Amino acid sequence: MNEIPYKIYLNENEMPDKWYNVRADMKKKPAPILNPGTLQPVTIDELSAIFCRELAEQELDDTTAYFDIPEEIRNFYKMYRPSPLVRAYCLEKKLGTPAHIYYKFEGNNTSGSHKLNSAIAQAYYAKKQGLKGVTTETGAGQWGTALSMACSYFDLDCQVYMVKVSYEQKPFRREVMRTYGAQVTPSPSMNTEVGRKINAEFPGTTGSLGCAISEAVEAAVSQEGYRYVLGSVLAQVLLHQSVIGLETKAAFDKYGIKPDMIIGCAGGGSNLGGLISPFAGEILRGEANYDIIAVEPASCPSLTRGVYAYDFCDTGKVCPLAKMYTLGSGFIPSANHAGGLRYHGMSSVVSELYDQGIISARSVEQTNVFEAAEMFARVEGILPAPESSHAIRVAIDEALKCKETGEAKNIVFGLTGTGYFDMVAYEKYNNGEMTDYIPTDDDLKKSIDTLPKVDL
Ligand SMILES: *Cc1c(COP(=O)(O)O)cnc(C)c1O
Repeated sequence: MNEIPYKIYLNENEMPDKWYNVRADMKKKPAPILNPGTLQPVTIDELSAIFCRELAEQELDDTTAYFDIPEEIRNFYKMYRPSPLVRAYCLEKKLGTPAHIYYKFEGNNTSGSHKLNSAIAQAYYAKKQGLKGVTTETGAGQWGTALSMACSYFDLDCQVYMVKVSYEQKPFRREVMRTYGAQVTPSPSMNTEVGRKINAEFPGTTGSLGCAISEAVEAAVSQEGYRYVLGSVLAQVLLHQSVIGLETKAAFDKYGIKPDMIIGCAGGGSNLGGLISPFAGEILRGEANYDIIAVEPASCPSLTRGVYAYDFCDTGKVCPLAKMYTLGSGFIPSANHAGGLRYHGMSSVVSELYDQGIISARSVEQTNVFEAAEMFARVEGILPAPESSHAIRVAIDEALKCKETGEAKNIVFGLTGTGYFDMVAYEKYNNGEMTDYIPTDDDLKKSIDTLPKVDL
């Protein structure tokens, strides 16, 4: 019975040397991203004014299936990868389920999440292009932390616009970034035109992700030798994150295991997209079948209750438009929402796979998410990030269904990170102060009604 170890490790040489681009195997491709000014498909030159050239090329390439992972990036990966695929024997026992539960753990690095997989790639291409530095925004701080680590490794300047409320409430995240040499500015700031305008219009505002994105983009285009980078949503980010799925598949193959069910949490869709890419590729090529589930918060339900339409990726409306499942770029989750995954839209690749029925989606309420998080922490030893715990919730629910039916399904989920910086949310849960808020149809209609009108 115990021939499958608690941790399935690959060795360094078994780590993938190519990223996999699932778009190459999609007969119907995700819709092209559009220039917000002209509403025409973005050209490589337009995109290269904001993003690094090679990243812009990856973004627009929906036919090349495999991209070599440059040696410099592989060397960095080797410091914390391959990440373990863990058999959750203790959780199975606790649940009394015949199901076999596995999780791919991405929290084993200082940034505490999978975001480092793409941060190091984006920093590498910026360095290769001879840039001085990059700008970005961060909300809770995981992306900003990952990017500051990546930039210090390649000796690049890193300017992070951090949503003011997080800057003040998460001083330790901020200090981790500064320890890695990043300049962290609370947003809205007085550094940029858009920041000054917002400060004048809304004195005392504590900022928003949309505003921080607009500031970061302005900072990139107004400084010589800088580009803007983003930690989720984009096709290039899913490409880099495919390392998660490729390793997962290699680890399963080593033991001749075929997962029945693959579960991931979905904010912008990057970890989910990365985890499922090789498996979705098999489905698309007609080679295998898997039950793939994206899990999102009931308070920000873009796949389960949004519309599939072109929308702005940011509230400032400076980034390209993408066709995606969206709640409207003006949608802001309720203030009592503590569980992360707050983005109004969803990666256009994940959206298209969902629209084609290759994957399904489910939404869960945050008190149930934290209940699952605590159960997991107490038996598996890892304190999970609230985001990751959305996937834990559904994995537990599915394992309990197996208990009813007696099926020994192989269930795998992505454990994207650790929750040490989320103790305020855990505190709320432990004090019994956490509540659930599910937006009404009217709430959603208000922001969905503001979607741009695009005829292609
Ligand atoms: C950012 C983050 C997520 C959500 O982002 P995706 O792009 O949807 O993957 C999930 N888990 C953790 C730990 C994160 O930091």
